[in-house]
Amino acid sequence: MKGVGGMLSGLVKDLVERWRAPGSQHAGGASDSARYEILLDEVEPLDRWTLCTVCLNVDRTLAVVRSRWRCTDCGVDTRNDTQQPLQAYLIATPPETIEKNLREWMNVKGARVAYRTLRAARYKCLLVLQKRVQGRG
Ligand SMILES: [Zn+2]
Repeated sequence: MKGVGGMLSGLVKDLVERWRAPGSQHAGGASDSARYEILLDEVEPLDRWTLCTVCLNVDRTLAVVRSRWRCTDCGVDTRNDTQQPLQAYLIATPPETIEKNLREWMNVKGARVAYRTLRAARYKCLLVLQKRVQGRG
């Protein structure tokens, strides 16, 4: 397992740079990548964010507590109870679980390549954030 951490942060860096490349942003600038960038760059504290456990999309807590919130990615809304506070999720979930989910996700057949890559990147971002959160604990 030697070097996996370094490899992982290299991968994330690569992905973040690709996200930042001109033309890779969605219209409006509030894209998925921008949200994860805010967290990876520690622009905002994690405790203001929630995670959609269906698609791993992140959103601001304030947006979620509004009753009309709907996950911009997979479309679940607050009635589905699939939102978890991001920081609590990272503290409560063992890294092995996230890594296992990532491996399982990569073995899913039939997912669109873009979505497969996007969600794999989200898992990797979560692992980076988790290392940060648990390292501080
Ligand atoms: Zn979602």
